[in-house]
Amino acid sequence: MSRRHRRAPACRACGRPVIFALTEAGARQPLDPEPHPDGNVLAFNDALGVWRARSVASADPAARHPLEKTFMPHFATCKGPAQQELPANVTPIRRNR
Ligand SMILES: [Zn+2]
Repeated sequence: MSRRHRRAPACRACGRPVIFALTEAGARQPLDPEPHPDGNVLAFNDALGVWRARSVASADPAARHPLEKTFMPHFATCKGPAQQELPANVTPIRRNR
């Protein structure tokens, strides 16, 4: 089995590296690439090299994948120009429907 090295994806707003993880709903969610103890997303890289993500809140602790770690959604840490224009008390919500 060979490991494919694809070009690391980067956030279009701030240019920092991100992971695009597939949520259970089939949406692509950008995550910060390093696990974060305060993250609210469980993610792991599956056998096909696809990052799978689900929220910590919805995960059954007894059914956690052994490789799952908590990650921070990139939107929570993004310092990109698009978000700097928002007032400090506004949290951008992006959903794929
Ligand atoms: Zn960003």
